[in-house]
Amino acid sequence: MSGASGARVVVLGGSGFLGSHLCDQLLARGDAVVCIDDFSTGRRANVAHLDGRPDFELVEADITTGIPVEGDVSGVFNLASPASPPDYLALPLETLAVGSEGTRRGLELAERHGARFLMASTSEVYGDPEVHPQSESYWGRVNPIGPRSVYDEAKRFSEALTMAHRRARGADVVIARIFNTYGPRLRPDDGRVVSNFLLQAMRGEPLTVYGDGSQTRSLCYVEDEVRGLLALFDSDLTGPVNIGNPDEYTVLQLARTIIDLLGSSSTVEQRPLPTDDPTRRRPDITVARAELGWEPTTSLDEGLWRTAASLAEDVGLTIGGATP
Ligand code: UDP
Repeated sequence: MSGASGARVVVLGGSGFLGSHLCDQLLARGDAVVCIDDFSTGRRANVAHLDGRPDFELVEADITTGIPVEGDVSGVFNLASPASPPDYLALPLETLAVGSEGTRRGLELAERHGARFLMASTSEVYGDPEVHPQSESYWGRVNPIGPRSVYDEAKRFSEALTMAHRRARGADVVIARIFNTYGPRLRPDDGRVVSNFLLQAMRGEPLTVYGDGSQTRSLCYVEDEVRGLLALFDSDLTGPVNIGNPDEYTVLQLARTIIDLLGSSSTVEQRPLPTDDPTRRRPDITVARAELGWEPTTSLDEGLWRTAASLAEDVGLTIGGATP
């Protein structure tokens, strides 16, 4: 069935961290949603609150072997991929397969229905960048054979495939380059910096800073990120368009912010820097601002509190310090 808006949208990777928030916002605006996931890194619990809704279907499938969707499709979002470095390093072949064969099948599903296709790409296509901040015109500096290449090159291939389908077949496509995103429903064992630091701070354990902590990231709250993805989907742009928060912090600053925010007794401990860890990352969002009227609005403190609350509930912890 379609939703009140008449749209029926397929979300590949819909029960992942980002995908599940996208399902929520699509449903909230009246679209019907078909959520496809193989639960390799996504969690059923992320969409459990949608169970039983007539406008929501959950289908378990590995999109590298087929996308079992019957009936009308008015849009396809491809968010199917491990996204946390520990996840994609543990699933290297799967990550390459979903970025290549999975993306191909997603594009073909959209084309069969004359539906628009949004490719969720990544700031990782810029690799360890020589250009700062990163604008969409920058081609990137990726190590094609390093451990991270399974993700970076899969996403770069996804972008190439998406553009080839547009050029060769006139497919209606758009590419979003997503920068570091955080928020409720990050898995406690996700391994990315925000979930690690928040859990460590709540437990009074040392925060594990990789390297000297001088590397930078720019963190976008998940609801802002999804609002940007929807604005991009609704536009007539092809992209790629950076969707991220330009507020940049060193990893050490983030560790200190989290310790202060939670009133934690934790200290900071250095760990080895992962291979090819990008030294800096910050989106230039001039295009998103001008063409979509989009920019993030959630402050880091507010976003961190909401994320901490979700993680605490997941693992049965109480948050110390003052609540906002
Ligand atoms: N990081 C860290 N401690 C952790 C997890 C990550 O210092 O416990 C660092 C990591 O080395 C990187 C940054 O935080 O420089 C962001 O890492 P994350 O895995 O969240 O995402 P990435 O941007 O590397 O994909």
